[in-house]
Amino acid sequence: MTTTATPAAELAVIGGSGFYELLADAERITVDTPYGEPSDAITLSEIGGRRVAFLPRHGRGHAVPPHRINYRANLWALRSLGVRQILAPCAVGSLRPELGPGTVVVPDQLVDRTSGRAQTYYERGAVHVSFADPYCAHGREAVLEAAAATGTEATDGGTMVVIQGPRFSTRAESQWYAAAGWSLVNMTGHPEAVLARELAVCYTAVALVTDHDAGIDAHQSVSQEEVFKVFAQNTERLRALVLETLDRLPKERTCGCAVTLAGLELPFELP
Ligand SMILES: [Zn+2]
Repeated sequence: MTTTATPAAELAVIGGSGFYELLADAERITVDTPYGEPSDAITLSEIGGRRVAFLPRHGRGHAVPPHRINYRANLWALRSLGVRQILAPCAVGSLRPELGPGTVVVPDQLVDRTSGRAQTYYERGAVHVSFADPYCAHGREAVLEAAAATGTEATDGGTMVVIQGPRFSTRAESQWYAAAGWSLVNMTGHPEAVLARELAVCYTAVALVTDHDAGIDAHQSVSQEEVFKVFAQNTERLRALVLETLDRLPKERTCGCAVTLAGLELPFELP
């Protein structure tokens, strides 16, 4: 585990499919954790006078599929560098006809349909974190402000259902999720969000719609090729939005995430 007196980074971006690099001229470091190795080396840059860590969720070259990502190592590594606020761009399928490919959504809720993933750091003791609002309220505001400033249309709110994958949904599953009122489907948003919360780190998802999910368009089904193509077309736009958002993240945290663990007795010391 790497611990530093001066934080190596205070902000972080976890890049998803198609988003493997934040800035080209970044310092690369490897970080080990009690949970094993993160998805890849972490790069460090200075953006707007603040230190920013970047970790590609699937590793460079997309080596790690969603169900094999070591989410605990990823979040622990970032926290150990000093990171307290995370932006998490991700590719999503849309469950709503009005949210077409290329749409940016800032979800406000998630539903966990994954299975068998390690989703807590607290294997001992009684540590139950509040997760009613899974995303940082101030982080969400920052993304929406940045979207307005950069002329990016962004939808405020929506529920993201996180499926186990790596397969895409059946039509019936997709129709069921849509009927429940949910907007987006994704494979990595959980347990990433809850692990950040368990470490009292702010976490904000920024979802890019790459396709309509299987049950939404009667004639189409999702293909991996289509997903990666839409992501490639929109990566620069998403990168610009992320960079603008970093600049707007609070300098001092006054959100609930920061005090999530207040008064709880932790079975170990946080990094
Ligand atoms: Zn927060």
